[in-house]
Formats: sequence, C-alpha cells, structure tokens
Amino acid sequence: MNQKFILPIALCLVFCLTPTHAAFINGQNYVPLAGWAHANGLTCHWIRRNEVTVTNRTTRLVFDVDSRNAEINGIQVALSFPIANQKGVVLIAQFDLNTAVRPLLFPPRFAEAKTIKTICLDPGHGGKDTGNRTFWHSEKTFTLALASELRDQLKKAGFNVVLTRTTDKYVELSDRPALANKRAADLFVSLHFNATETGRNEVSGPETYCITPVGASSSNAQGEGRDHGPTTANRNEQKSLLFAYQIEKSLVQNLGVNDRGVRRARFAVLRDAAMPAVLIECGYMTHPVEGKKILDSTYRRQMAQAIVTGILAYQKLTVPPIPSTLPAANRLAVRIPPSSWTGTDKISPKSQTR
Ligand SMILES: [Zn+2]
Repeated sequence: MNQKFILPIALCLVFCLTPTHAAFINGQNYVPLAGWAHANGLTCHWIRRNEVTVTNRTTRLVFDVDSRNAEINGIQVALSFPIANQKGVVLIAQFDLNTAVRPLLFPPRFAEAKTIKTICLDPGHGGKDTGNRTFWHSEKTFTLALASELRDQLKKAGFNVVLTRTTDKYVELSDRPALANKRAADLFVSLHFNATETGRNEVSGPETYCITPVGASSSNAQGEGRDHGPTTANRNEQKSLLFAYQIEKSLVQNLGVNDRGVRRARFAVLRDAAMPAVLIECGYMTHPVEGKKILDSTYRRQMAQAIVTGILAYQKLTVPPIPSTLPAANRLAVRIPPSSWTGTDKISPKSQTR
C-alpha cells in the first residue's frame, strides 16, 4: 500500500472508531463525532491531519479540528464552537449538532409554515451612510441597483416585494426590519457588498449571515449586537439558517464564485426581524476581478437570479403544499415531500426518518 495512505487510515481507526464518552469543554457538552455519525447512517474518516469527513452515499460533511469551519454538502457553514480533539477522539459540540448540522441535514417540517407572499428587500446603507468605498464607488449605489433588479425578478416570479429604500436616502438600521414587520413580510433579505482592509484585496466571494443562536458568539466580531440573549430573530433561527444556506449555495453554484460561507451575526437589521432573515455580503468590492463585476449590471442580474433560485429552493423545503385551484403565482409554493427531494442536501431515506 502506498505509504501516504497508511497514516490517515491508521488515524481513522484510532481516532474515529475508538469508543469514548461525551465530554464537557469550555462550558459545552461535546459528543464523539464518530458516534453521532454512526447513529445517523454516516461514516467518519480522516482525510488530512486536521480534517475529518463524515459521509454516506448522499451526504458529505467536512470538519476542521480545533476550528469552527465546517463544510455541509459542499457549502461552508460556521459552527458556534470548535471541533475538539480530546485524547485522539474527535468531538463536536451538541449545540452545533442541534443548531447547525441537524437543521441542515434533516430540515424540520415547520408545522406553522405559511406560503411566501411578500419579501422585504433591504438595500444596505444610503444617504449619508455610503457603506464601503473603493475609489469613487460607494456600496450604497450597488446595493440599491441589485435590490431593484431583484425586486423585478421576484415580482415576475409572483411575489410581492417591499423595499426599505428606493432612493439614495438614509434609513435607520432599526427602521429596516421594522418596515418588514409592519408589512408582514414573509422573508427579509438585506443586501451588502464587502470590502477588506487595504492590502488584503485577494479575498472574494459571498458570505450569507443569519442570526447567531442564543448563547453562542457571532462569526463576525462586528455582528455581536447587544448581548448573547434571545432576540426576535431567534424565534426563526432554524428557518433563517436554512434560508441562508440555500442562498449561499445558489450564489456559489450559479455564479461560480468563492464560497465564504454561511455565518452568524446579531446584526441590527437581523435581530429584530420577525420572519426568516438573512444579510448577504454579495461579494468583495476590493477584489480586482469581483470588484469590477459588481459594477456590471449583467453580473448583478445573474446575482439576482441566483438569489431568486435560493429563495425558491428555501420555499420548497419549508412551505406546505397548497391546493392547485389557487392562482398560478401562488402555486410556486409547493413543498416537495422528503421522499422525493432531489437536491444535494438529501440524506438517505433510512437516516431521514431520525
Ligand atoms: Zn454594507
């Protein structure tokens, strides 16, 4: 056997298969990853010195040891607590299984789910708040341009659309989710473009944020919000995670861009939203290639299409079927039964019943 495979296989046997018990690390209950995988019809393997995969025929999870980075069916998802390696056994926080892994692999059937009719779009910044700036370009201009394109495409798909601003005017952060709540929007989407500090312009790709679970710290230090307690948005925590995942997946797959992942933050515009809510950092204005694309209306149209695709994918996972006698526009909201899911999120029928 090739020697380079001997070490990973030996590590797999020692670390993944060793019987062990749960642990309590930094105030969190941790469970053996291999045990959880086995119980859910998945198998645990080491692929590199600090990287473990958990797979079956239709699912592939990748975890970095001592890191909060995880990959769930090809999309990066930030965990709340790092994967641990204790005496050679890989452990995952029960908190992350409950708030990140399980809701994405086994989307809950939301009994109270309702048809998505109205979507509130929030073009970031405006007026005196320019947002990020590169040369003579301001983020506020391109968030509004993208929101206008997205509004048109969503209307064509049969949704009602509300915008938190339609002109270059300043809108208080708290007024943005307040408008979505007042108009009884079913989804809230805040649109932004990112920028790095000077000299780090190699970073590119979208990041999609949803509310940080209660008791965890945010992926983005700027998105920590007031405290770690429950916010209005935490009532829709699982739906917002599913929504963020479908948006990030669609952007990455349809635009072929770098995946910066699903992340968590208590941003002001997210925490007071009474409906599933995401904030999309749609790309980096500071990247030499991506920055130019953001200025291009054709690229923004493709980006809007990708966001619509993500919204429709989320709708399929969460909204119950409605009678076919309703108008065609509303008939978009058809829930695909779990047995006929065809997306990459699918897990084997055996484990789906868990
Ligand atoms: Zn912004």
